[in-house]
Amino acid sequence: MIPYGRQDISEDDIRAVVEVLRSPFLTQGPAVERFEAALAEVVGAQHVVAVANGTASLHLAALALDLGPGDRLWTVPNTYVATANAALYCGAEADFVDIHPRTLDIDVEALARKLEVAEREGTLPKVVAPVHFSGRAYPTQAVHELSKRYGFRIVEDAAHAIGTLDGDTPIGACEHSDVVSFSFHPVKLITTGEGGALSTNDDALADRLRRLRSHGVTRDPAHMVHEPEGAWYFELVELGLNYRLTDLQAALGTSQLARLETFVARRNELAARYDELLADLPLERPAPIENGRSAFHLYVVQVPHGVDRAALFANLREAGVGVQVHFIPVHLHPLYRKKGFAPGDFPVSEAYYERALTLPLFAAMTDDEQDRVVEQLSLQLAGARA
Ligand SMILES: *Cc1c(COP(=O)(O)O)cnc(C)c1O
Repeated sequence: MIPYGRQDISEDDIRAVVEVLRSPFLTQGPAVERFEAALAEVVGAQHVVAVANGTASLHLAALALDLGPGDRLWTVPNTYVATANAALYCGAEADFVDIHPRTLDIDVEALARKLEVAEREGTLPKVVAPVHFSGRAYPTQAVHELSKRYGFRIVEDAAHAIGTLDGDTPIGACEHSDVVSFSFHPVKLITTGEGGALSTNDDALADRLRRLRSHGVTRDPAHMVHEPEGAWYFELVELGLNYRLTDLQAALGTSQLARLETFVARRNELAARYDELLADLPLERPAPIENGRSAFHLYVVQVPHGVDRAALFANLREAGVGVQVHFIPVHLHPLYRKKGFAPGDFPVSEAYYERALTLPLFAAMTDDEQDRVVEQLSLQLAGARA
């Protein structure tokens, strides 16, 4: 089976992890610091805080922005459940803004309309967390403008977007947000096994994220309530979690990060090749990138109206093509339906989902593998329409 995504682990990656195994530190130590510094350099941010996974990273971002009971976080339905769940972990409410039918990320006009209503009704969000879906930068500047008018904070969910350029600016530079969240799950652009990170230019927010990542304890006398009683002394000043990344994972991350440009270049090459090879098929292909560069975490097509997507999906899998679907609209999951969401609430996300199909795309994919995907897709599509 050609998978839809797969990690690319080199001998250097393996050596980097083994080196840590022979060192005095296994969990958060010098390798985490090196990984954070390397990431800060690549994304162009003042601070990077590495964490256990991308879900932990979204949770910590919400906590550090003081999201709590009575507050609201808005995201899009076309995301992984983790983005919305970050609100629920904090005891806050999650709500959604529909997507743009072509770019598949947040529809800024829908956001503006919803904010206008929320202002009248006193239900404005404290945090908006848009998603750089598939690696394409959402309209960061437009969302930032709205945040100034309505006073919400911005968390960028960049699980798909390390290596993405927004104009000339790397995603992660926080040019138009408070904090950016990354994931290093094996299907993502670079991997640490499980892993995530946050970037920010806000010193106080970075301190808070570091503290919340480690139970909420501080060893910094400047942040303590009492005088230190000795060198062993630390204080628990707020309730945090153990969301630390290990040095084993961080060493893998630093080694992978060194190849990010190569990975993203190959993904772009493959995406351009898909554009060409699929040009004559009746599929809606990804919207062109006008300003910047997508990291191309995903290459998503939409099947023609009237084609049975489920049958096409099953036939492609049967033929060894590991297609996927991203994403089931979050509000349609039973947990969110119990909170009152229903089909029809976000029609663009729902209509997109019915026709969405993610084609295999990963840095180590060969042209031959891609040709097989295209060949099977043409065959099955011809069959489905016959
Ligand atoms: C993968 C993903 C996450 C969660 O990341 P994990 O590291 O798997 O916890 C969050 N948001 C989006 C959009 C994702 O694709």
